[in-house]
Amino acid sequence: MNSTRSLQGSPHQFQQQSSPRFRFAPSPNGSLHLGHAYSALLNQRLAQQLGGVFYLRIEDIDTARCTPKLEAEMLADMEWLGLAFDPPMRRQSQHFADYADALETLIEADLVYPAFLSRSESRAMVEEHENNGQKWPRDPDGVPHYPGQERDWSTSQIKAKRLEQPRHAWRLNMAAAIHHIGSPSHLDWMEFDVSGDGSDHLKTGSPADWGDVVLARSDTPTSYHLSVTLDDALQGITHVVRGVDLAPSTSVHRLLQELLGLPQPVYHHHPLIMADDRRKLSKSARDTGLADLRAAGLQPSDIQRMVGLG
Ligand code: GLU
Repeated sequence: MNSTRSLQGSPHQFQQQSSPRFRFAPSPNGSLHLGHAYSALLNQRLAQQLGGVFYLRIEDIDTARCTPKLEAEMLADMEWLGLAFDPPMRRQSQHFADYADALETLIEADLVYPAFLSRSESRAMVEEHENNGQKWPRDPDGVPHYPGQERDWSTSQIKAKRLEQPRHAWRLNMAAAIHHIGSPSHLDWMEFDVSGDGSDHLKTGSPADWGDVVLARSDTPTSYHLSVTLDDALQGITHVVRGVDLAPSTSVHRLLQELLGLPQPVYHHHPLIMADDRRKLSKSARDTGLADLRAAGLQPSDIQRMVGLG
């Protein structure tokens, strides 16, 4: 993009890959279900079709909910299903220093700020505004935007507050970030077609819809948006294939790519496999969990057929 101004001193060098690179990036905070099976098998099939590589990334930044036991169960389910990944596997909890470097770049550029309100305090403040008749914006997941009063604090005010309350999150100053890249309020990405009928098309999204997103929490030194964006670049991922529920997040990932000078993959956001009652599958639902289907005597070929990739 011509309008891009990425930050100086970005700590990593990234190269565009010549061969296609795909990844499957589950979070071991529950069990794999048919929806994961579909996403992983689709990635694997596309990597094979394009003669590319297929990586596994364990997205376990939430070290309280993501346990070694759940990870081991996930790995066993994936092996049973016939998924074969190219080495190396990347486990996010082993790379917190990489995310800290990227965050530091944004701190130095004054595009993030320390945010001191907990989730419940933020919600309470928004409720108070709404009770006073003020309309408050919500992000695509329905969460109210962070009030962000810290954006306007002076350096000495922030310093004093950090002494009093050392634990805080870091949030992106969304308006400043959009201004920094000199972009209109929308960012594009290429949504590629997997059926071969040539319907690749540009999609557009507005990162501002998300408000001042969290880039690091007080108890986790990164966030989904920061780590997924950086890892896609560090692993040289060229094709991001994931569920359509993550499509709205792509505008935030595109913004971070522009800010940090990261290459831009192409994307395919696939439909979700829904439960019979049309609800999204959950990691605790028994009847669609891979381990339960396997215990009930189903074979990997049955799973492939069930997700439409037989
Ligand atoms: N770890 C995320 C999940 O399990 C997927 C992230 C992504 O594919 O961008 O939902």
